[in-house]
Amino acid sequence: MQRGTNLGRLGDFNQAVIFESIRRAAGGVSRVELAESTGLSPQTISNVVRRLLDEGLVREDRTVVLGPGKPRTVLELEADRLLSLGVHVDPGMVSVVMLDLRGEVVVSKRVDEPSLEDPERALEAMASAVEELIEASGRPRGRILGVGVVAPGPMDRERGFLAAPPLLDGWNYVEIVEPLRRRLDMDVLLEKDTIAAALAELWKGPERGRENFVFMYLGAGIGAGIVVNGEVLRGVSNNAGEVGHFSVGMDFVEEGAEPCRECGRLDCLAVAFSFARVAASARRRGIDLPEELEATVAGRAAGMNRLVELALGGNGEASALVRGGARMVAQVASRLSNALDVDEVIFGGPLWAALDGRHLATVAEVINGGFVARDLHGISVVSSDLGHQVGAIGGACAVMDALLSPKASALLLR
Ligand SMILES: [Zn+2]
Repeated sequence: MQRGTNLGRLGDFNQAVIFESIRRAAGGVSRVELAESTGLSPQTISNVVRRLLDEGLVREDRTVVLGPGKPRTVLELEADRLLSLGVHVDPGMVSVVMLDLRGEVVVSKRVDEPSLEDPERALEAMASAVEELIEASGRPRGRILGVGVVAPGPMDRERGFLAAPPLLDGWNYVEIVEPLRRRLDMDVLLEKDTIAAALAELWKGPERGRENFVFMYLGAGIGAGIVVNGEVLRGVSNNAGEVGHFSVGMDFVEEGAEPCRECGRLDCLAVAFSFARVAASARRRGIDLPEELEATVAGRAAGMNRLVELALGGNGEASALVRGGARMVAQVASRLSNALDVDEVIFGGPLWAALDGRHLATVAEVINGGFVARDLHGISVVSSDLGHQVGAIGGACAVMDALLSPKASALLLR
């Protein structure tokens, strides 16, 4: 990725460490505190802070009284100095956000049941949505670091295209990064939805000190974002977290069910949660979800939304189906929690957000009930605070993460 003019001198690891400490200190941080927390010499701190002040990334004009002793001048982030954009393409919705350096949403936009059948037109619509958002923000274009496009996997992140995503018909090997880069004249990167969601939780929740968690992403598809020892697990090709073919147990399989076309199992999450299977179960329960909905991305998204609406509206059969779906996902989350020994599972994504916290108690019970190290620690099971925007926020965070975080991998990009 290319960097904006102001980033050429952020290539120093110490500078990234210091900047990150200032970014995370909500109430400001003094030079003395920085030296203590980073272990860097006062001279290094002084040199780096000078550069950050020159770039306008931080300011140092406020004093605070911290206990006895003389007041200290604190360094604070100029959160609006640099911005990034995230575009999340889920078959059920497209969400676009602009974030500041603190990770706060400046402006956002959402399109429900977007038209995704024709990738070229969809990319054009995405570019227009980004332009509209920049316009609405009133921020100068020069402050924008880039755009993180978030989509279901599997994908070739390096080359910027999706690789046969099972939920987006017609998007096989469609280039995403290059056409958007051309249209927007801006840096663009691609990120998998589950990894983006995990990044969003890491960036947005620093005060909670999250180090080891699983993010169960529920959108048109289901996947997991995994964070171990404070870093997102990416794997060899940035496609880690594909849990779609984990078994959910035969309890959920009804008679006459078709096996999964990819793995051959009757009880994998992908087939148990597929729209065809869900719609067939719904029809057996007297819920009208016409078969023609199965033919298109938009139809499946509309059908799933209809089922959730019915469940929320008090339809008992729809509600039972949705609860069963939540239990299936919890079974998979339970296996992952055991494999990784995490202490938190976060549920989120557009479908989970639509359920508005329902079934959280159910999934928490399944996950903790199946946790083998329960005598040593529990697993906190929570809903993401970021709602349907979690993916888009994660895309914008991915841009900042690639450029600003003090990590060896980020430095290599330079
Ligand atoms: Zn399968």
